[in-house]
Amino acid sequence: MEMMEEGVPPVINLSKLAEREETELEKKVAEIIKELGAERIMYCMQCGACASICPLAKTGFEWYNKKLIKALIVGLRDELLDDPTPWACVACNRCTEVCPRRVSPFEVMFAMRRLMAEEYAIGSLAIEGLRALYEYGHAVYMTGREARKKVGLPEKPPSTESDPKALEDLRKILKQTKLADLGLIPME
Ligand code: SF4
Ligand code: SF4
Repeated sequence: MEMMEEGVPPVINLSKLAEREETELEKKVAEIIKELGAERIMYCMQCGACASICPLAKTGFEWYNKKLIKALIVGLRDELLDDPTPWACVACNRCTEVCPRRVSPFEVMFAMRRLMAEEYAIGSLAIEGLRALYEYGHAVYMTGREARKKVGLPEKPPSTESDPKALEDLRKILKQTKLADLGLIPME
């Protein structure tokens, strides 16, 4: 067995995956991702600029932006569906700013989320956010109500949460999505 220098991360060579026989579905995965919003995925030149500033790469999530893009381009699909990385993307868009090819790796992450949702592979990381979205109209639940009151602001922020009609409309939309089919969160 080859010795690995301590502390040096191993190289993960995905090129062999491109040589294997692909199923029709796998061949189409990059096309599907394009249709789901990441139109420029094929322009990626794997320079690594996006990975160098991505919090997901820094915190050890496996399929961070650059690596996910490569995997999708070579046709990997099923192996990615069980991975939580896209659900952990914080939408900071740092990757979008630094990409020299205007790929917008953020869009790839979110297109991957859409593909995963199509396949009923919703990350557990997302469930609390989805519950809060249905309940309050915010994927990130707003805390600090006491603080708002103290400074004379209304307890609820001036957003979907304080607009009953908007909240009702949002719930109607959510009930028509695959989220409702899954039954992961209570929807009355
Ligand atoms: S910065 Fe852009 S071109 Fe470079 S690896 Fe990331 S997506 Fe690809
Ligand atoms: S938007 Fe997502 S993929 Fe891009 S740098 Fe931020 S966390 Fe990483």
